[in-house]
Parts: sequence; structure tokens; C-alpha cells
Amino acid sequence: SEELLLQTEKLAIVGELAAGVAHEIRNPLTTIKGFVQLYKRNNKFIEYSDLILSELERIETITCELLSLGKPLAMVQNRMDIKELLENTLDLLSPQLIKKDIQFKFNVEDSPIILSCEKNQLKQVFLNVLRNAIEAMDEGGEIQINLRKSSDSTCMISFQDQGCGIPEELLPRLGEPFYTLKAKGTGLGLMVCHKIINQHNGSISYQSKVNEGTLIEITLPIAS
Ligand code: ADP
Ligand code: MG
Repeated sequence: SEELLLQTEKLAIVGELAAGVAHEIRNPLTTIKGFVQLYKRNNKFIEYSDLILSELERIETITCELLSLGKPLAMVQNRMDIKELLENTLDLLSPQLIKKDIQFKFNVEDSPIILSCEKNQLKQVFLNVLRNAIEAMDEGGEIQINLRKSSDSTCMISFQDQGCGIPEELLPRLGEPFYTLKAKGTGLGLMVCHKIINQHNGSISYQSKVNEGTLIEITLPIAS
């Protein structure tokens, strides 16, 4: 009967997730449908095409994030220099940095630190965390990324931003599906992060001060 309880819990979670997904996808679909109907009536396709595209992109983002959530972690893990992986990730974000007048400050104490990991998935984690940091900073500034050994068998990657911060009572909700405070957010980024970090036997923690910034620390095991 313990198993039955587990089954019931699982079904409840699936139900909640399905309702969330349906809701998130229905909103942009309703918008697109409305604009296509309008366009049929008055032929102003060009005027509406940007809106339609941005709503389609939204559906695309949501489905991509959900797909990466459902994907089991490839059991073939590769040895990877974590510094290199972080540098690759930082490079991907330079267009957003320039737009928002933000600089990365990357500090590495020890190197090389080698992890056994699925590198695309870890990259996804760093991207999601850094995107949140960038999105939280509207007045420019600095994002500090630190990489160091935290014990013989673990390393820590920390991300300190100077963004809007997160009220303390909301910290436990981070990683909850569809929990977002952004008008265009999906609330899936951190959930994906938590899943990938778990699968790598790591952990993530949050500290934040409203109007000052957020510190996110990720601990991961070093390859033996
Ligand atoms: P999304 O970015 O789509 O909203 P996430 O799961 O990535 O979804 O983040 C959930 C919420 O957590 C965000 O909407 C935001 O309110 C908060 N958050 C996450 N990281 C930060 C950060 N670095 N600074 C401020 N708020 C953050
Ligand atoms: Mg996000």
C-alpha cells in the first residue's frame, strides 16, 4: 500500500504538471488565434506578425524546457574541465551582456577541476542561472562567477549578481514548476537546474537581499 500511495502521489504531480503545461501553452495559442482571425478580416499580416512570432517563440521555449526535463540523463558521462565549460557558457551570453551593460567577473582559484558530467546539461544549468541574473539586473553592473574546490571531492561554482533580489519568503518556491515573477517567464528554468544538479549528485543553494542581489552556490562532485 506504500507503493499505492507513491502511485497516487505521482499521478497528482503529473496532473498538476499537465494542468500547468496546458495553461502555459493555451495563453500564447489564444493570442495567436486572435491575431490570425483579425488578420483574416483586414489583411494586416505584417502588423501582427511580430506578435505572432513572439508568442510562437514562447511556446517553443516552454516545450524545449519541458523536453529537457523529460530527457533522462545520458549515462555516458564525460570528463570535463569545468573552467572550460563555464567559459564556453559565458561566451554564449555576450550579446545580452552588451545590451544591458553588464560585465562578468570570472575568478578561478584552482585549476584544472575535472568533473564527470553530461556537459550539455551542465551548460544548461549555468545558462539558466546566468540568464536569471542578467534578467534581474536592469541598471547594468557586475556578475561575479567563482570556481573553487570546496573539499577534496567537491567543487563550488557561485554566481553573485547585483540584481533585484528575491524576498526571503519566496526562496523555498524557487525550482517549483511554473513559479515565475516575470511577465514573459516560464518558471521552468530553475526546475530544470534542480533536476540536472540532482542527477549529478550535486546541490544548489540561494541567498538573496532585495534590491542588492542574489548569490547562488552550486556544489558538484569532482571526478575521481
Ligand atoms: P523564469 O526565469 O522563467 O521566471 P526560473 O525558474 O528561471 O523561471 O526562475 C523563477 C523565478 O525566480 C524568476 O521569475 C525570478 O522571480 C526568480 N529568480 C531566479 N533567479 C533570480 C535572480 N538571480 N535574481 C532575482 N530573481 C531571480
Ligand atoms: Mg529563468
